[in-house]
Amino acid sequence: MQQRQNNALSWQLMEDDRFFTTPDDFSRWAEGRKQLRLEYFYREQRKRTGLLMEGDTPVGGQWNYDHDNREPIKAALSFPALPQHGQDSVTKEALHDAAHYFDDHMGSMETFNLPVTRRQALVDLHHFIEHGLADFGRYQDAISDSAPFLYHSRLSAAMNIGLLSPVEVCEAAEAHYHAGKAPINAVEGFIRQILGWREYVRGLYWTQMPGYKQKNQLGFTRELPAFYWDADTDMRCLQRAIQMTIDNSYANHIQRLMVTGNFALLCGIKPEALCDWYLAVYADASEWVELPNTLGMVLHADGGLMGSKPYCASGKYIDKMSDHCQHCRYSPKEITGPKACPFNSLYWHFLETNAEQLNRNPRMKLIYGSLSRMKEEKREAIRQQAEQFLAKLPTSEGYGQPAHTQGYSHQETRS
Ligand SMILES: Cc1cc2nc3c(=O)[nH]c(=O)nc-3n(C[C@H](O)[C@H](O)[C@H](O)COP(=O)(O)OP(=O)(O)OC[C@H]3O[C@@H](n4cnc5c(N)ncnc54)[C@H](O)[C@@H]3O)c2cc1C
Ligand code: SF4
Repeated sequence: MQQRQNNALSWQLMEDDRFFTTPDDFSRWAEGRKQLRLEYFYREQRKRTGLLMEGDTPVGGQWNYDHDNREPIKAALSFPALPQHGQDSVTKEALHDAAHYFDDHMGSMETFNLPVTRRQALVDLHHFIEHGLADFGRYQDAISDSAPFLYHSRLSAAMNIGLLSPVEVCEAAEAHYHAGKAPINAVEGFIRQILGWREYVRGLYWTQMPGYKQKNQLGFTRELPAFYWDADTDMRCLQRAIQMTIDNSYANHIQRLMVTGNFALLCGIKPEALCDWYLAVYADASEWVELPNTLGMVLHADGGLMGSKPYCASGKYIDKMSDHCQHCRYSPKEITGPKACPFNSLYWHFLETNAEQLNRNPRMKLIYGSLSRMKEEKREAIRQQAEQFLAKLPTSEGYGQPAHTQGYSHQETRS
């Protein structure tokens, strides 16, 4: 806490209690480190808070259970229905005003069901702990064609605006583990998102800004495709992720990273256009969390400060983790030709175009090995397929984007 006195008024700057750590804590941890990897930061926070710890050792013997958390969804799964929140006169009036003044904005209010009071946020927290947490881990990376929320908590907006504290959310999850009601891979995976990722991206943001926002390591210049604003695309995975965003102002992490994000990476969308979109469309949007995720994780624009390699993937990954492709007019197995999944040729095109910057990365060695073994004829066919696709991609400069979000200027508000 800082105390100041000037001629007129004395004032105090309080630390923000919506987080476990302060930006100064992060700075101290980051000092002298060449790489700022999440895993080491997270372990330190586990030790500091004692969450999921037995003395100095992690509960269950491991820090991280990620390898158990990669199951795709199965047809027979049923997902917990959400609690339905009533709307008082204030909420009704706010929804009415939003419809009136922002009627050209992307999004629908018909299904509005976000918690707007502390009581509603607690209902959502308890509902998730009881009905979602146990399966959160193994289906954490899954994507569904029909279910937007799966076993995710949907608590980000409530935590970001202070209706819930991250401490109470993590303690509720830990208590559920100790009561024997959720497995360690689920509880550790969930706590890592909050005690690890959420704190880490905030620390990174405040230690790297304002320069961070200017980063564009791969030199991307393309405008955002127009369909990001209205979901009018025949690529099923993108259509569903964007339509779910329109309906709920929500998409889960993998939809943001591996569907809308991955497509933007493969097409070379310029960072400010993509950031504007993520900031405009999600209920939980805040620049301190959005920017590192978009620049660092999605676009590899910070040159590897956050992620040791770009999260680029072909249609094969989306086919493995989701049930989208069976509903799509494209085939994830084809790379060229009229039925070929656009992600496939774009993937190889991305690797080829950015080879100078990426092919010395040890984690990309295998994939660049496959590219170099590919016959030149095949490479040329893929190149043409991708370039024809990109040439036809309708971009959103002036299209579809509501006037008041055009050139959305990122505000550096400390939160
Ligand atoms: C491009 C991109 C943009 C994003 N923009 C935002 C944003 O503006 N605001 C925001 O709150 N989150 C953002 N995220 C992170 C993440 O996608 C959301 O927090 C999560 O999808 C919210 O859904 P949930 O509450 O059901 O999360 P769950 O999957 O249930 O996870 C639990 C909690 O962990 C935290 N969390 C999970 N992943 C991350 C992450 N990568 N970074 C930071 N915290 C995380 C959130 O507080 C979340 O509520 C972004 C991710 C990407 C890839
Ligand atoms: S085939 Fe390609 S475009 Fe269609 S849903 Fe699968 S990954 Fe998406």
